[in-house]
Formats: sequence, C-alpha cells, structure tokens
Amino acid sequence: MSEFDLIRRFFTRDTPHAILGVGDDAALLQVSVGNVLAVSSDMLVCGTHFLPDADPFLLGHKTLAVNLSDMAAMGAAPRWAVLAIALPEADEAWLAQFSAGFFALAQQHDVELVGGDTTRGPLNLCVTIFGEVPAQQALRRSGAQVGDEIWVSGCLGDAALALAHLQGRIALSAAELAACLPALHRPQPRVALGLALRGIASSAIDISDGLLADLGHILEASQVGAQLDFAALPVSPVLRACLTPPSLPLSGEELGFPHDKGGLRGVKLFQQFVLSGGDDYELCFTVSAARHAELADIAARHNLPLTCIGKIVAGRGCIVHDASGNPLNVEACGYDHFR
Ligand code: ADP
Ligand code: MG
Repeated sequence: MSEFDLIRRFFTRDTPHAILGVGDDAALLQVSVGNVLAVSSDMLVCGTHFLPDADPFLLGHKTLAVNLSDMAAMGAAPRWAVLAIALPEADEAWLAQFSAGFFALAQQHDVELVGGDTTRGPLNLCVTIFGEVPAQQALRRSGAQVGDEIWVSGCLGDAALALAHLQGRIALSAAELAACLPALHRPQPRVALGLALRGIASSAIDISDGLLADLGHILEASQVGAQLDFAALPVSPVLRACLTPPSLPLSGEELGFPHDKGGLRGVKLFQQFVLSGGDDYELCFTVSAARHAELADIAARHNLPLTCIGKIVAGRGCIVHDASGNPLNVEACGYDHFR
C-alpha cells in the first residue's frame, strides 16, 4: 500500500463544510461571519501517552477527544482537524480500527478531517483542530474575578485510578476497573458544555494535567488565588470508597506502603488522583456567584453533573480545605513532561 493509498483509504472522507479538503497542498477553510478561528494542537506519543499495544479504535477516539477538549475549554465550536501521523508500518487492520475510532467521534461532533501528514517513524499522533467562536465570547484562562465560584464538570480522578491499576500500582476488582476505565480510554470532550458557558463563565480550562495544575493556570493568568473544599469535589462511587479508610479496597501493603495498616497513606494517594490525576478532560471554570442558579439549568439540559468546588479569592495559590476546614497538605504538581 502506497502512502497515498493509505491516505485515501483511511483518512479521506467527505468534507462538505470545507472549500477544499484532503488531496491538495493545503485545505481551504472559510470561517463564518462574526467568528474567529480557535486553533489548537495536541500530540499523543507512544510510550508517553499510550502503550504500543493500546486498542487502536480507542486510540483514534482519544487522539481527537483530547483536541476537542481544548475547543470545549475555549467555548469554540469544533469544525475541522488535520492529522499528522507517524507509523512504524502500514498495518491495515490497525489503521482501519484507528480511523474508525477517530471518525466515529468526529462525526458525533460534526468535525471534518481536511488534511494532515503521513510518514514512517515511531508511532506518533498529532491533531491540530480548528474551531469557531465569536471573539468576545471565547473562554480564556485570564478572566477569573475575586468572588467568582469555581466549578467542574463530571467527576475527577477516575482516569488516574484506572491508570494506576494498569501500571500495577494498585489492584482494583474487575467491577471497579470497569467503572473507571472508560474515563481513561474513552474521555468525552465537554464540547456542548463549553458552548453553553459562552457569556456565562469568566474563565475556563480543560483538566488534562490534574485539577490543581490546570486550575493553577487560571489563577496565574487571572492573577488571583483559590480556596477549594475537598469534600465538595465530585468523585465517582469507586473512587469515593477509596477515600474512606474503613472501606479502602486495598491494604497498605498492596499500595506499596507496608507499614500503613490503617490505610491513611493510601487515602493520601487517592486524594492525589482527585487533585492531581491527569487525563480527566473535564472542564474547570469560574462563574460569578450571581449566576449560580444558571449552572443547575445547564447541568440539567446537558445531563452532566456540574459541581461548585470553591471560590476565587484575592492573592495567589490554591488552598484545599478538608471536611473539618483544615488545609490539606497537597502536592500541587500535575503532569509536566520536563519535570
Ligand atoms: P504534501 O507533500 O504536499 O505535503 P502530502 O503528500 O503530505 O502533501 O499529503 C497529500 C494530501 O493528503 C494533503 O492534502 C494532505 O493534507 C493529506 N494528508 C496526508 N496525510 C494525511 C492524514 N494522515 N490524514 C488526512 N489527510 C492527510
Ligand atoms: Mg506533506
């Protein structure tokens, strides 16, 4: 199979919303009147973001999902994507599954693949995505105001929980794993929520590197601080159980803490999944307290839990309070490729 056969077979679909799609030296795209382009790239590298034996259908899904998540975080409507892909070989079965996963999600969000690049090399997947948003309504990181509420969508930490199991750091039961694995393998980008938050959220970001790290970007860009209430953070029932010592599903020994009979250090680990676990792809955003009620309405309309987790305060940094109001000692480090 030649490079061009490969592109034609696996990566060429109708692109009715592009003036010109795959097949020329560049695609031609027209943004609708009144909108600006929102452009973002996200790369998935084999060995860093996924393992060589990753399911190709799910990988195709996730390659696009992480990019859609950036559009969601900007309040942009995703329109087009280009895909730069390096492949060790032209494995047709793999390519068929990968492109099926990619296009299934693309179709769901009405996104067209309009170009890319295909080369031989260590497996590497890079999507650049193009969306549209009225310039004044883009959800930036820099708009949080003192007094705003901090909200997140969905629940936090399930992807980190699943990853820790796959890495052999913890041992979940089959049922527990089944409950948290989709968060890691099939993240659902919150595109509709991002659109609904136009004109409502004062700032937004998607959580790819962990809540504290990503909220930290909002705080820095907005030059404000935050107070979070740990007990308010939305977590799944599986992770909730891990945060409660008596029902901890693992002994300290299994967690690599042999002297931790009470499971307290284990609880600390699970707290970190919630606060610093990556790959959640939920949205974290700030909203004026006066608009609190509107959020319940958006949550109901989109059938997506939205939770107020704290507030923006004057100053810098983020303090997380436990249920008794004491500050939690947390490591605010999300994933950083160069640290
Ligand atoms: P050029 O040599 O002019 O850069 P290429 O030979 O790389 O063009 O690609 C030919 C056409 O196929 C271009 O329109 C390009 O955008 C598209 N293309 C290449 N790889 C992909 C891919 N993985 N997915 C979608 N389109 C692709
Ligand atoms: Mg090229």
